[in-house]
Amino acid sequence: MTTRQDCLALDAADPLAPLREHFDLPDDLIYLDGNSLGVLPRATPARVQQVVREEWGRDLIQSWNTAGWIDLPQRVGDKIARLIGAGAGEAVAADSTSVNLYKVLMAASHIARQDQPARRVIVSERSNFPTDLYIAESLARELGWTLRLIEPEEVEAALTHDVAVLMLTHVNYRTGRMHDMAAVTRAAHAAGALVVWDLAHSAGAVPVDLRGADADFAVGCGYKYLNGGPGAPAFVWAHPRHADRFWQPLAGWMGHAAPFRFTPDYQPAPGIARYLCGTPAVIAMSALDCGVDTVLAAEPLGGMAALREKSIALTTLFADLVEARCAEHGISVVSPREAALRGSQVCLARAEGAYAIVQALIARRVVGDFRAGDAQTPDILRFGFTPLYTRHVDVWDAVEQLVQVMASGEWREARFHQRAAVT
Ligand SMILES: *Cc1c(COP(=O)(O)O)cnc(C)c1O
Repeated sequence: MTTRQDCLALDAADPLAPLREHFDLPDDLIYLDGNSLGVLPRATPARVQQVVREEWGRDLIQSWNTAGWIDLPQRVGDKIARLIGAGAGEAVAADSTSVNLYKVLMAASHIARQDQPARRVIVSERSNFPTDLYIAESLARELGWTLRLIEPEEVEAALTHDVAVLMLTHVNYRTGRMHDMAAVTRAAHAAGALVVWDLAHSAGAVPVDLRGADADFAVGCGYKYLNGGPGAPAFVWAHPRHADRFWQPLAGWMGHAAPFRFTPDYQPAPGIARYLCGTPAVIAMSALDCGVDTVLAAEPLGGMAALREKSIALTTLFADLVEARCAEHGISVVSPREAALRGSQVCLARAEGAYAIVQALIARRVVGDFRAGDAQTPDILRFGFTPLYTRHVDVWDAVEQLVQVMASGEWREARFHQRAAVT
């Protein structure tokens, strides 16, 4: 079995190891929650300071022009496009994932209503991230449509003649299970449905090829693997064949063809710019820009393909070690063991104590998180492995701490059982 020494050797030979230097990560912390909130990039504090002190404080309103604030959504969008197989000018950074999902679902529904009015169903997964389901449910109510929820293995069978839109999250937030984007998109198109992909757990974590897969719409998150900071702006992409067909319903002035002409009527900007709504959050967008740069820094080292290779090595090592060392403590691996079916996270389950075990690990400076189960699904201990800053030895040490938490029984202590607001 792999030893700690082996892990140190793997790290010493890792061509991506220097990327860790781009992050301000406390030395004594093993951070396995970059799938929920990415680590602070070293460049971010100075950039935010500059935006606040110089661009805002000194140059004030000129900065919309002189510092290029007005183009930030496009500039950051172009950088993100490089990570998701989209072209320049096809994506913008804006708003939140939830809000962007509303825009693209509405756009997709409009296209469906024009082209195939008999289709009035949105299909998604029961285990999709709840905000995605809430947005789709709300939109279905607004349109008099139906939201149909299925299990991940039922996708193809669910593509019946009444389906207008298939809305999926590429990598499941709980289980880490990943869909084959190209195959699912092909099947949906063959069945006459449009496909909306949520890339919240994909962008910056796994290679994505939206154009190659011929997807229709996509949204994604800025504060997870893109390291944009808490509440960072999200992003939105529409295939160019759709972008100009419909103005999304949140038709704000930043999506107008000429915002500073101040005309009383709305004329949508060409292309993806019409997916902007109001004034960009410049400070947050600047932090996101630094975060995206940390992922782009991998480009000369092999880019997303190299990151994926390391991510698979880390998640496989973690799952192997947990199975070898923690099975006797009742802990099992929930995420798919086949690497091709898994994103950059590994989820574990235990019949009892999942929340407390995560808390006990955090007390030992190993940060993962907890996601509550329900009647059908177990409580989950969730660990994300951001290949930009996670080392093989971190994986080994994290499992060692987990073994100690279980062997000592310390997770049973009352202090680890008090639920916080954010789990
Ligand atoms: C993280 C995540 C979101 C977050 O949406 P916000 O609007 O940023 O709160 C949405 N969808 C999925 C699938 C996510 O993983």
